[in-house]
Amino acid sequence: MEAWAPEALAYSWDRVGLRIGDPDDTVGGVLTALSVTRGAMFAAGEAGANLIVSHHPFPFAPLETVNPKEPDTQLCLGLVQGGMSCYAAHTNLDVAPGGVNHILAAQLGIEDAAPLLPVEQAAQVKLSTLVPGEHLAEVCANVREAARGALWENAHWRFTPAGLIDPGGATEPESARQRFEAVVLEAMAPRVAAAVREACPGDTVRFEVQPLKSQDPGVGLGAVGDLAKPVKLDAFAQHVREQLGIAHARVVGEDRKVQRVAVIGGSGGGEIEHIPEDVDLLVTGDVKYHQAQFAEDRGLAVMDAGHYGTEIGIAEGIAAYLKRELDGLPVTAYTESDPFRPV
Ligand SMILES: [Zn+2]
Repeated sequence: MEAWAPEALAYSWDRVGLRIGDPDDTVGGVLTALSVTRGAMFAAGEAGANLIVSHHPFPFAPLETVNPKEPDTQLCLGLVQGGMSCYAAHTNLDVAPGGVNHILAAQLGIEDAAPLLPVEQAAQVKLSTLVPGEHLAEVCANVREAARGALWENAHWRFTPAGLIDPGGATEPESARQRFEAVVLEAMAPRVAAAVREACPGDTVRFEVQPLKSQDPGVGLGAVGDLAKPVKLDAFAQHVREQLGIAHARVVGEDRKVQRVAVIGGSGGGEIEHIPEDVDLLVTGDVKYHQAQFAEDRGLAVMDAGHYGTEIGIAEGIAAYLKRELDGLPVTAYTESDPFRPV
């Protein structure tokens, strides 16, 4: 999960990673879910899983008292007593390439989706250090190994003949050392530094870290792209309902043709004011009344397909990823039900 959506990409207020469990436990099976619920806990038990990987962190709010009559405590105790661990990839999976929003965009037929809104976590830094010549091959191999996955597509690094800068004041021949420079996501910098250091046993490798103004274009909130051809809003909304398997949805705006479609899985109503002018339609969840009015005023069509509908696909998405990455480990996707029903 760290290779796909590192914890360092989460918003600072979020609570991601291992929420319940001992990091040294052995995983015998995984259940993936949107939320950790009683249903998910029972399904995990039935599937023989001892780890739930969810999008919504649990517990999220700190437990102030341990009262078994309180639902969150009950669930927490049930998980602990059942030997079940819980890991969450939340806002880090909202902004990571191939995450929640790219899965949603693909479900809706949005082609070549790109991140919709910039986020601070996309900041890049330049790392540089001097690498002893005898460790060059090992450094290359380690950095390549550390840099697997879509998050590294916009990173780059190079070695250049050193000699001009030598903070240690060493007198080795210039050819013995190479300057290693890497432009990477700030969130990835510790991993690159560790990979280089591991390749240079016995050497003190000091890094200069320079914050850059550039952002990784692959990291951002939401996703945006074009439909293959313009379609009428109401017809597309029906298509979205069918694709997401949801019983109800609401649309803001007159029926008209739309082609450039943005998605924000979960609660996206608060982002309406930040949606670029060229977007015809935003598909999201949890849109409030005044947010809908604002969208109508500015001429942006919005489909509220629900928090559930716009995020439930992530359970299958995480399962598909883990099956691909963890050969032989049993992985089951759990589909919770929408707490809302139309009347
Ligand atoms: Zn959510």
